[in-house]
Amino acid sequence: MNGAPAFEAISRKVRSGEPLGRADGVYLYTEAPFHALGKLAHQVRTEKNGNRAYYVFKRYLNTTNICYAGCKFCSFAAHEKEARSYRMTAGDIVARACAEPADYDELHIVGGHDPKQTSLEYWIPVIEELHRRVPHVQLALFTAAEIDYMCKRARCTYEEGLRLLRDAGLTSLNGGGAEILVARVRKLVCPRKASAEEWLEVHRVAHRLGIKTNCTMLYGHVETIEERVEHLALLRELQAETGGFKCFVPLAFHPEGNDLEEYGWTGGIDDLRTIAVSRLMLDNIDHIKAYWISYGIKLAQLGLHFGADDIDGTVDNEQRIYREAGSTTDQSTPAQELKRAIKEAGFEPTRRNLLYAVMEPA
Ligand code: SF4
Repeated sequence: MNGAPAFEAISRKVRSGEPLGRADGVYLYTEAPFHALGKLAHQVRTEKNGNRAYYVFKRYLNTTNICYAGCKFCSFAAHEKEARSYRMTAGDIVARACAEPADYDELHIVGGHDPKQTSLEYWIPVIEELHRRVPHVQLALFTAAEIDYMCKRARCTYEEGLRLLRDAGLTSLNGGGAEILVARVRKLVCPRKASAEEWLEVHRVAHRLGIKTNCTMLYGHVETIEERVEHLALLRELQAETGGFKCFVPLAFHPEGNDLEEYGWTGGIDDLRTIAVSRLMLDNIDHIKAYWISYGIKLAQLGLHFGADDIDGTVDNEQRIYREAGSTTDQSTPAQELKRAIKEAGFEPTRRNLLYAVMEPA
């Protein structure tokens, strides 16, 4: 099949601001010429964000790995009785967040579905304390799956739970837990976690309460291309309704230490194509991230040429989720290295905060 006419038709839609449909997305994934796809995504990225490439000063805490949800792709979760299980105390969390130098802009916290930690009762005083001790730090806390877990345990609605968290000081929800928002896939890889509808509903309610959020897609395991595209289309539709997503983060599946090892690593071409297709399908989300912790700095640099405008940020050595899934990327990179990588790729390094306000360069 000759892809050129279809690609031209899609380019015209993109140039005229018409949203792409599911068939367009499948075509872009499976047949669109690779370089032309990257070029088109780069044009859209440049129209939205100019020559900027964003990074953030961030501290990252995985506060517990105790979790019984049993997601098949997860290398991080542990049973409480396993030697490698851990649970930070509230005091540890506050101490780590406030440790000097505390001149960072975003605190990012994700944990497991831990019956003893993942509750509104546990977190509200911790958030209040964080807000009091490091008021300049914006708090990116919990995935929608964690919110679903906490609200169900507290027997409250998402709105009631999110209101309490927002009023305590939460700035934004993290984008994780989305995996692939298709029932067939979730049944295979995360049957005990929030459903696709519940994940979307948590974000819908958060947006209604003025809480901005991120969204992700964990790709490269059991899903089909059509299911990836369905996932992107659902995100686009929710964004059209609420406008509350700041950034989309494609997350490549890492295969070590989990039940889906047979699917192996994603390839660089798939990663770049995913970034580009995301940029084109999610025309109503401002930012697409090439997450260097997942891709490594070198592929993240290329991602900036395929539609991404953000590479995430400086983190200390606490990001355990990818490390335990086999990532060999150094998890700690100073700002100078991120800026160097962005400049070398031909972009203007731009320090941002969680809500994409531009900060003074470091
Ligand atoms: S992905 Fe999250 S919810 Fe699923 S098993 Fe791992 S820690 Fe638990």
